[in-house]
Amino acid sequence: MKLKVSVDQDLCTACALCYDDVPEVYIDAGDGIAAVKEEIGGDGAIIDCEEIGKEICDKVLEVTEECPSGSLITEVVEE
Ligand code: SF4
Repeated sequence: MKLKVSVDQDLCTACALCYDDVPEVYIDAGDGIAAVKEEIGGDGAIIDCEEIGKEICDKVLEVTEECPSGSLITEVVEE
């Protein structure tokens, strides 16, 4: 599976959930506002779950559901 990961920083309320739970993908970009880590390609990066690990992709999908402000945009680009 491959996931395209983005953060809508205008909506983010800096709750810290995503970068606390999935630090491999998300980071505090300042003032608690989340971003996709530059190391994995930054905003809009496509992550390969075979490379990064299925459990990390599962956590990305989980926090996408749990983000209280709906700021995490995660798209399955390949099953
Ligand atoms: S879970 Fe949502 S609201 Fe919380 S820091 Fe991440 S993007 Fe922002």
